[in-house]
Amino acid sequence: MGDLKPLEDALTAVLESTKVLETEVVPVDEALGRILAEDIKADTDKPLFDNSAMDGYAVRYEDIAGSSEENPRVLKVTGEHTAGTAKSLKVEKGTAVKIYTGAPIPPGADTVVPVEFTEEKNGEVLIKREFPRGANIRRRGEDLKKGEVVLRKGTEIRPYEIGMIAWVNRPFVRVYRRPRVAILSTGDELLEVGEPQERPSQIRSSNHHMLYALVRSAGGEPHQIGIAPDNPEEILKTLKTCHSYDIFITTGGVSMGEKDYVQYLVKEVGVEVKFHKLRIKPAKPVLFGTYGEKGLFFGLPGNPVSCAVAFDLLVYPAIRTMMGAKEVFKKKVKAVITKDFKRKDAKRREFARAKVWTENGRFFCQPHPKQQSHMISSLVESNAYMIVPEGVNEIRSGDTVEVVLF
Ligand code: AMP
Ligand code: MG
Repeated sequence: MGDLKPLEDALTAVLESTKVLETEVVPVDEALGRILAEDIKADTDKPLFDNSAMDGYAVRYEDIAGSSEENPRVLKVTGEHTAGTAKSLKVEKGTAVKIYTGAPIPPGADTVVPVEFTEEKNGEVLIKREFPRGANIRRRGEDLKKGEVVLRKGTEIRPYEIGMIAWVNRPFVRVYRRPRVAILSTGDELLEVGEPQERPSQIRSSNHHMLYALVRSAGGEPHQIGIAPDNPEEILKTLKTCHSYDIFITTGGVSMGEKDYVQYLVKEVGVEVKFHKLRIKPAKPVLFGTYGEKGLFFGLPGNPVSCAVAFDLLVYPAIRTMMGAKEVFKKKVKAVITKDFKRKDAKRREFARAKVWTENGRFFCQPHPKQQSHMISSLVESNAYMIVPEGVNEIRSGDTVEVVLF
């Protein structure tokens, strides 16, 4: 097993070769999932002016002190302040201004009485409850002060951050560029989705579609190349386009078969191979190399499950690093296994597909009964990889294991 690379060494090799990409400016609505490449500051105090938190009446506290259902105060209504109004009515002794949520507090008023504790009749309003001075007023700057940093460089932009960016009047923001990722399936037997099956020996290709989605959900920009047959000229033709991409991913044709050309052809396009086989199961045959200034080449296995595992363990962190993320790995947690797990060969670390759930705040896990690498059903019926360490043949129900959530 000497020529099999431990996963840690492989990850080190990948991350040492992975550079954060340049930044670019995008419209706020296109910034979802990107990583901020600048600090975002408040453009003004927020709120910008004292305004009402309720629909009701803006009053002077002195005028309503002591009011109750039995003993209401009566105030003259002099007008109204709607949200966005240009008016600035004055509240004098014995008067009130009708006010709506978000409308500016009229000068002279210091309290808002919500409409449900009032009754308006003939230009007068009855105040049926006392509120403390300052009640129901949102104060200028109570949320944010002008110039305050509201989002730090390096923040991942979720829908809430989009709201904040717009809130501080930024139609555009600077973010890290996403990697352009090419995806190619290889194999004479492969059929594109929708193509008619001509021979029983043909296999429907799942991988380049799964990879397209994996790249996209990691935050990268996928480019579909499609399927190349096991023909060196055809494969080479597409590999030569690698310099247009930050990452080039192939699947299939990377193990020990005579038709597994990828490992030889990559050298012809200038890929410097860093490793070819990993001490993990599944996904032993994974080829990784670099090209050009910062290009990364991943030759992933053809078996769909191996392809997914290799992507999640190695390509995912590379994409996340390139796009400037701080969290680059899939989340790992400890879980209690609820079913015995046995295996014969314990030489490699295994990433067994498993179902993970929580109960009373604890994680539990059950390995999927199908663990062969061509069984894509094990992926769709799982949400985690259960890690079986090297040298371990058996895990007993009740033991604690590490799982990688996907
Ligand atoms: P290979 O690594 O090329 O020897 O392929 C290993 C296994 O994965 C074979 O059974 C292939 O038919 C299958 N395979 C290869 N590429 C794909 C693909 N794109 N989609 C689904 N299965 C594939
Ligand atoms: Mg093949």
